[in-house]
This record gives sequence, C-alpha cells and structure tokens, in this order.
Amino acid sequence: SMFVGGTFAGFADMFSQLQKTLGATESIREILRSESEPVSLEAITVAPENRIRGDVQFEHIFFSYPSRKDTPVLKGLSLSAQNGQQVAIVGPSGAGKSTLVSMLLRFYEPDAGNLFFDGKPASSFPLSELRAQMAYVPQEVLLFGGTIRENIAYGKPDATDEEITQAAIKANAHRFIEAFPDQYNTVVGERGIQLSGGQRQRVAIARAILKDPAILILDEATSSLDSESEQLVQEALDNLMKGRTSFVIAHRLSTIRNADKIVVVDKGVVHESGTHAELMAKDGLYRRLNEMQFEFGVVTQSVTETI
Ligand code: ADP
Ligand code: MG
Repeated sequence: SMFVGGTFAGFADMFSQLQKTLGATESIREILRSESEPVSLEAITVAPENRIRGDVQFEHIFFSYPSRKDTPVLKGLSLSAQNGQQVAIVGPSGAGKSTLVSMLLRFYEPDAGNLFFDGKPASSFPLSELRAQMAYVPQEVLLFGGTIRENIAYGKPDATDEEITQAAIKANAHRFIEAFPDQYNTVVGERGIQLSGGQRQRVAIARAILKDPAILILDEATSSLDSESEQLVQEALDNLMKGRTSFVIAHRLSTIRNADKIVVVDKGVVHESGTHAELMAKDGLYRRLNEMQFEFGVVTQSVTETI
C-alpha cells in the first residue's frame, strides 16, 4: 500500500482499534469513514497474562477535559466493581457518569488517581488487548454501511454464521432480521435500509454478545427507545449482563433496582453507594432521586442543589 509504515499506518491501526472498541457507533467513525469501505478487521489475540476477569477499581480519580481545564469533571472519585458484578451508576445529567465510564476504555487519562483492572494499573495492559475485552453500548447506536451480518460480526471478525445467529437470538434481534427478504445479508446504513433505534440497539447488543467481553458498559442504552423496544432491549441487556462485570448508566431507576451495587454520582464524586434496599433505607440522595423520578419522570438538576 501507499502508506506502509510511518505515521499513517500507526494511525490506521489505532483507528481500527478505536472502531472496534466503539462498535462503530461513535461520531468519529462517521466523520472519518462516511464514504469509505468497511475496514477489514483482524481478530485481536489477548495474551494470557493480559486477560482480565473484570475486577475494576477507580482510585481517587481527578479529571478535566483538555478543552476545559478550569472545570474538573471528576473530583477524587473512587469506586470498585468485582468480577461479575452489575454496578449501576446514577445521578443527574452532567454529573460525570459518561466521563467516568469512558475512562474505562482509556480515551482519556486521569489527571490524578489510578485505574486498576484485576488489581493491575490500566496502563500496564496493551490498549488494544484491554479494549478487546470490553463492549460498549451507547445511547445512540449508529451502524456502519454494510450488512447486518458484518455489523454483528464487528466485535469478532472470525465469527461463524451459527455464532452470529445465536448472538442475534439472545439480543432479541433474530426475528426482525429474519423478516427482511435478505435476512442477515440486508444492507443497512445510508445506502441500505434504515433500522429503527430499537433495532440498531439490538444489533449493537448482538455484537456485544458475540464479543463476549469481560466488561460491559451500557450508557443509557435504552433511553431513546419507545416502551415496546425498550422492553425487548432491556431483556436482551439482562441476558448480556449475566456473569460479567457491567457498568450500567440508567436513565430510568426502575431498571437498575436489582444491581449488585448502585453508585450515586453527583458533582464528580461518589455521593453514596449500596444496594437498592440499603440506599432506600438510608433515606439519602438515592431515595430522593427515586421519589423525584416517580414524581417528575426525569432528573436533570444536581441532586445536592435540588435537595
Ligand atoms: P453525565 O453523563 O453524568 O450526564 P458527562 O460525563 O457527560 O455527564 O459530563 C460531565 C461534564 O463534562 C459536563 O459538564 C459536560 O458538559 C462535560 N463534558 C462532557 N464531555 C465533554 C467533552 N468531550 N469536552 C468537554 N467537556 C465535556
Ligand atoms: Mg451521560
């Protein structure tokens, strides 16, 4: 190729990693690749010493975005998740929830504090191998131009048809895919058919199931859906979370009641954490959030300002 070696190859490699991590959903992909062919993907081999079980620890993390150094977003935030635990992160809009989970993928480095996976510093793992063990489902899933099969296989390029179908079944996506004349070969995106938000979400979940990650990150994954698709997607997510460390940012508190741990983030710190029962018994911010959501439907203001 014209670009062997040097900076471009490095960039291309990094970019293909980024795409895999994001599941081709983020705007960077749209910007950089809107006219191009899907990149051919190679499966990443994670070395045995870099395999993670999924213990995660944020230790006193401080962070501000490079463009807004004067406004810290995370201000000494600590939290831990044990292998297999479902950790829900709740709090008002702007509290730093999305920032927090994006630190797992190491898009940004903390200004101070440490992040550990299985007790080892995040920086001790090759980035690609770390990201290969996580799946991320955001609020707005954008699929790339290609077939549904290709979109699902994104997290595991060498997947068999049987594996792809099984993942789609678990994601509650198989039925709608089968109903298309071209089924898994249906082309989606600008030049193909438009899927609904709930359908795209379920394709992204099938991709995450196929990837079989140690760590799953769901950032308001059902918040843009109508209630029928929300129920289908929620079922699919419940399947996906079983047995793996999951960070779930929920817009609706009722969906995270059964989480192993609920962490209330406000103004860049953990305000309180515990199970639903523990936090309700405490009569603190979580309980107020529940009451507010029950009353008003959404929580937008800072908890500490509101209460
Ligand atoms: P939440 O997910 O809890 O709603 P975010 O983590 O998205 O909160 O945002 C926390 C704060 O960081 C907000 O004030 C937001 O405006 C700011 N922020 C988020 N993303 C960026 C970014 N890429 N650059 C600068 N500021 C950002
Ligand atoms: Mg957010």
